[in-house]
Amino acid sequence: MREVLDTLIKLQEIDSSILSLKQTLEIIPIEIKNFEKKMDEIDKQFENENKKVINLEKKRKEKELEIEDINEKINKLKEKTSQVKTNKEYQALLKEIETIQESLKKEEENLLLILYDLDEAKKVLKGIKGDIDKKKKEIEDKKKELENQINIITQQIDEYKKERRQIISKLPSEFYEEYMELMKKHKGLAVAQVKNSVCQGCFLHIPPQLYVEIKLNQSIYHCPQCGRFLYYKPEEKLEQTQVQTK
Ligand SMILES: [Zn+2]
Repeated sequence: MREVLDTLIKLQEIDSSILSLKQTLEIIPIEIKNFEKKMDEIDKQFENENKKVINLEKKRKEKELEIEDINEKINKLKEKTSQVKTNKEYQALLKEIETIQESLKKEEENLLLILYDLDEAKKVLKGIKGDIDKKKKEIEDKKKELENQINIITQQIDEYKKERRQIISKLPSEFYEEYMELMKKHKGLAVAQVKNSVCQGCFLHIPPQLYVEIKLNQSIYHCPQCGRFLYYKPEEKLEQTQVQTK
């Protein structure tokens, strides 16, 4: 019976390890998705700043064309001045030129403002671009690490499963069936330790007589409340030997 108990304990250890690895396997894809989301956010931010620059470039070109047009107009009017015959006409032309020159001045100021904004936007974009490459690399590395972890964990699970098959072959089938039923019923814990006379599966206080028997680890016992297999792990031993060696 001692052997059966040891086998059950070992089986539980393996199954607990497999379960916890499987839980990790479920979390990793979520983490990877989070990293991908972060990457999208960075791309979006870059896209937004890039759009700003493109828009300002467009505005700049339009403004420059506008200014060119105004200059052309002024030149034409200036040419006209040599052809006018009356002083009145001449004065009217000069006035017209003056008005257009004023609007030219205004548009040139507007162009300067656009150039200033463009310069700022370009600086921001450049900053983001430098950041993007760095962040993307970081995220890419983390993603790879997680994908690598998936492989490692999958391999570990396979190894545990192999070990599990070997262990089961040593376990009488009635115990294995009971074990599997308890596993299902208790969501992954069929073999519980008794610690300070408390079942670690359901936290029932084990009756003293039963506790004494369990402590011997010579037979298979079940928790009176949850039905799990129970075992006792002597923990005081270490302290005792330490005391003795002193
Ligand atoms: Zn219990």
